[in-house]
Amino acid sequence: MKFYSTNRLSPEVDLRTAVTKGLAPDRGLYMPETIYPLDPSFFAQMETLTFQEMAFRVAEKFFGEDIPAEKLEEIVNETLSFGTPLIEIEPDIYSLELFHGPTLAFKDVGARFMARMLSYFLSEEKETVHVLVATSGDTGSAVANGFLGIEGIRVHVLYPKGKVSEIQEKQFVTLGQNITALEVDGSFDDCQALVKSAFMDEELQRKMVLTSANSINVARFLPQAFYYFNAVAQLKKKHKKIVFSVPSGNFGNLTAGLMAKRMGLPIERFIAANNSNDVVYQYLKNGIYKTKPSVSTIANAMDVGDPSNFARILDLYGQDHAGICKDMTGTTYSDDQIRESLLSCFTKTEYLTDPHGAVAYRALKEHLQPDELGIFLETAHPAKFTETVEEIVGKGNVPMPERLQEFMKGEKKTVPMGLEFGEFKKYLLSEST
Ligand SMILES: *Cc1c(COP(=O)(O)O)cnc(C)c1O
Repeated sequence: MKFYSTNRLSPEVDLRTAVTKGLAPDRGLYMPETIYPLDPSFFAQMETLTFQEMAFRVAEKFFGEDIPAEKLEEIVNETLSFGTPLIEIEPDIYSLELFHGPTLAFKDVGARFMARMLSYFLSEEKETVHVLVATSGDTGSAVANGFLGIEGIRVHVLYPKGKVSEIQEKQFVTLGQNITALEVDGSFDDCQALVKSAFMDEELQRKMVLTSANSINVARFLPQAFYYFNAVAQLKKKHKKIVFSVPSGNFGNLTAGLMAKRMGLPIERFIAANNSNDVVYQYLKNGIYKTKPSVSTIANAMDVGDPSNFARILDLYGQDHAGICKDMTGTTYSDDQIRESLLSCFTKTEYLTDPHGAVAYRALKEHLQPDELGIFLETAHPAKFTETVEEIVGKGNVPMPERLQEFMKGEKKTVPMGLEFGEFKKYLLSEST
């Protein structure tokens, strides 16, 4: 399979190059040249397949030409060492729980898959590979844990100082080994800008093997389609139209859903559920895409003012605003509205969401039509945001899973970093020797 850049100014590449480079030289995002639909026989037997079997059939469509089947199957099986249960929390409203992985957020799926695919492609590489990742909270932990201890790979996690929860932070600042956390005195967008600049820097490119583990990487982005299939397969009622409500920041998760729809999965439409960072909402409303500095909210993993995967959405629909609006609507909610929905969901249904899931839940409550059923993506376990969630539902109401407690015991170690690219570059060069 060939992968092209959304900017169409650099040459098409093979899977290996797309995965090891992350971003195209023209700063575009890679897209698969062809999106193959799954066969009718697959859809007919979907319910009888395990999640791993189903995911392998999906993965083959993107990666099957470039990776031997047994290897791909191994990558899929190791990635999906946990499930994504679909829970009906009230009539026609379902939670797709994506937090059963090691760091309790959906990013485990993409990060674990990418770590394994990258080490497959780099097993012959002699130099150390440096993985750069900017995080607004959950990416850092998922990527760091996905790569922890993998030989020949060093991970540098950039995160905005003071803007992630203590638990999120603990999951990547305490690991040590081949993982370094850089505490950036700025916002998530600043972190992302530093990473992008590193990829554009000729000297760094010459002296080090750099790759990105943000959702711009196809090996992180595409596997996120797996659980949309798994959700539909778990539905008992099939007579209603299926709507997915996706709490969105960089839009990798939602775009993977659009890919699943293109592959033939019967999804009626998507709701892009946003906090007050609403650039995509504004685009859907008036056709104008205007980036903005991100603002801090209680759903901090979605505090993104220039969502990177938006380029993929535009590309997928040939820049057609009307086409995009047919498959996708948007919502935007304030912190007060998020709190109110989290509390009312908990009070009425006893189901506790995290702040991100609460955004998507509210979008379904407001916009679901009578002939539709809604699935919201519960992207993180509420305990990852214990402080915020306890403030809303009261102390003692947020259970703390054991694997989170383990992280809390570790000691924090970070490298402080300013906003000057020069400083970041100096740090990287010092790491390259
Ligand atoms: C990253 C994240 C999101 C946003 O996902 P995107 O793919 O960036 O849109 C939503 N919720 C949680 C909990 C996250 O960690």
